Amino acid sequence: MNRRKFIQLGVLGTGATLAGVESLRGAATTNSPAGKSPVTVAMPISVAPLVQRDLDAMFDDMRTRAGVNALFIFSYSHEAHRAGVAAAADFHGGNYARPHMQYYQDTPLTLADMQAPEFGNVDVLERVIPIAKKHGIRTFPFVLEDNSLPAAVKADWETLYEVDHHGRRANGHPGGPCFNNPGYQNFTLGLVEDYARSYDIGGLMWGSERQGGLLNTLGLSQSSGQDPGRTTCFCEFCQKKGKERGIDVERARRGFGEMETFVRKGRGGQRPRDGYFAEFWRLLLKNPEVLAWEDLWATSRHELQAAIHRKVKGVNPALQVGWHVWQNVSFSPFQRAEENLEDLAGCSDFIRPALYNNVAGGRFKAFAKGAHESVFGDLSPETTVEVLTGQLNYQEALYDKLAATGFSADYVERETRRSVAAVAGHPVQIWPGVDIDVPVSAGESQCTPEGVAQAVKAAFKGGAEGIILSRNYIEMKPENLSGAGGALRGLGMI
Ligand SMILES: [Zn+2]
Repeated sequence: MNRRKFIQLGVLGTGATLAGVESLRGAATTNSPAGKSPVTVAMPISVAPLVQRDLDAMFDDMRTRAGVNALFIFSYSHEAHRAGVAAAADFHGGNYARPHMQYYQDTPLTLADMQAPEFGNVDVLERVIPIAKKHGIRTFPFVLEDNSLPAAVKADWETLYEVDHHGRRANGHPGGPCFNNPGYQNFTLGLVEDYARSYDIGGLMWGSERQGGLLNTLGLSQSSGQDPGRTTCFCEFCQKKGKERGIDVERARRGFGEMETFVRKGRGGQRPRDGYFAEFWRLLLKNPEVLAWEDLWATSRHELQAAIHRKVKGVNPALQVGWHVWQNVSFSPFQRAEENLEDLAGCSDFIRPALYNNVAGGRFKAFAKGAHESVFGDLSPETTVEVLTGQLNYQEALYDKLAATGFSADYVERETRRSVAAVAGHPVQIWPGVDIDVPVSAGESQCTPEGVAQAVKAAFKGGAEGIILSRNYIEMKPENLSGAGGALRGLGMI
């Protein structure tokens, strides 16, 4: 197919998408039992079932059980679980649609780096879009940054990766590609332009499950235990940008070194003379460059998001562009400050805060353990959970019960309400990600149809204007998906 045909397809797609947006707007104002227009009910899904299963039967199942009308496909990833296949040493991954190379300028990534070989020549978007459309389902590529890279693509990708405060290239989570690296920016913008121009999509969602280097150094993460020496990013592009902002790069680097020492001593059980919190605060007083560097990281990601939004809207203003927001924001008042949705309000059509209430118990506990090694080192993990619960304005179980009970539907409502308030005054819809069988560890709470239904109801009570059933169709028990559908029907949403 030549480029002109792609553009024609794009134009045809525009008409269809505009109609979709109008019906969606209608729905936004009639979110009541009387309203008949559908809200967005989205389903994320791996690639494997989309290239291997009978699509008519699968889409019929999603429609019948839960009124799904949008498909979020993990169409670009180098992680095996997002493709929906077992991890293997020679796994490659990449774009499960066909990369159209004219969109990828000035990036070191080659066609061989990008093209996923796992399913032969199948272009997942080309295969899925017409069939999904027949079922009244719009298709959105879901580009979620990878947290690890397979050896097969590491060589070229690594040149785009962050550099830590010791000058070493990041080697995976919590580091990742640098938002200020032009090669990564060009790849990302090329990818979204490729999707927007080459396929009849409804829009796309991009996500990044990372946070700034300071928060990683301090172990303030649901994936606790990171190496505090891996603070990012001090690559040449970040150094240049930092200098332009008037930040003394060497003082920032030294500050991160002192933070690293603080955390290492804490992990070794050496309590600071004046206490953990006082020492933490003193380090910030002495090294304010650390906070400036943290803000550089956080705002650089938002700048890339704004660029993605501009790029896609420049191709077709009717396409909906939105963001997945990492659940760690739900556990960390520090990342809550850093990931201010208000900052994204001007460049979003929708935002999906990940509000996986069932799995949240175990994740919050993991977060509290990490926090206990630094800022909250003066407190026990039990007290840390209590303090955080107060700071975050939740009413959830205490430390010992958290993993067995998970978080409640009330958490979903509170976080939805907070997200809605953050984007007030902007035409941004909040589509919370609700938990349907997100995998848990042994002994942890399990989803039930009733629990899922409560979470869905809570999201709409909190002001949601759509919902993203999460996090992957292939993980969901049919009866729990039906639980979501029952709630949506009860609310008159489907
Ligand atoms: Zn950088």
